Amino acid sequence: MAVIGFDTTVFPRLNYKDPAAFWGEIENLKAFFRDNRQALEPVFKRAPAFLAAFQKLDPLIQSYTAKVCPYCGTVCCANKFGFPEYADVVGFLALGLEIPNYNLNVNEEDICQFIGDKGCVLPRPQRPYRCTWYFCDPLLVQLEIGPARDYRNFIKDLQELSRARGELLENFYQIWKGLDKTSK
Ligand code: SF4
Ligand code: SF4
Repeated sequence: MAVIGFDTTVFPRLNYKDPAAFWGEIENLKAFFRDNRQALEPVFKRAPAFLAAFQKLDPLIQSYTAKVCPYCGTVCCANKFGFPEYADVVGFLALGLEIPNYNLNVNEEDICQFIGDKGCVLPRPQRPYRCTWYFCDPLLVQLEIGPARDYRNFIKDLQELSRARGELLENFYQIWKGLDKTSK
């Protein structure tokens, strides 16, 4: 599948094993958004397309996970996957979302703190991006044996999400690279 993404390794690493550093980076980023709202206009302009792409994709993914996940013996949602990377937090702030109140004092291999009775309790745009991009084999099989038109639409919507996120992050990166040191 052709995907236009963004290399998120250009950003600092958010280390959930070091709570002070983790929350410190997040606070710096929140301050950066607060102090540079005008400069970040190009980023905010791209937020609606990013949100719309999530909203378009969500119902189809939900319909497949609802079929497959209740029978899963090896649930993929572990705490370590529920923690965000820096680019995820950029996305949350660009969309005007609250940063989830992560409990870092959990076993990273245990089932994710955001699992509820009916799956993830976080709205999709407020989850780490990897949560939307992970498809286990049973899910992929369901997609492939489902209606061909659904599958084609799904691939198209996934590419659109990647494109919308890539553009938003690229815009953010260019601004952040130039202004980063002034906000600290
Ligand atoms: S996505 Fe796949 S691995 Fe994860 S809970 Fe659902 S069925 Fe299990
Ligand atoms: S989808 Fe939700 S419950 Fe699963 S790992 Fe991601 S944040 Fe946690």
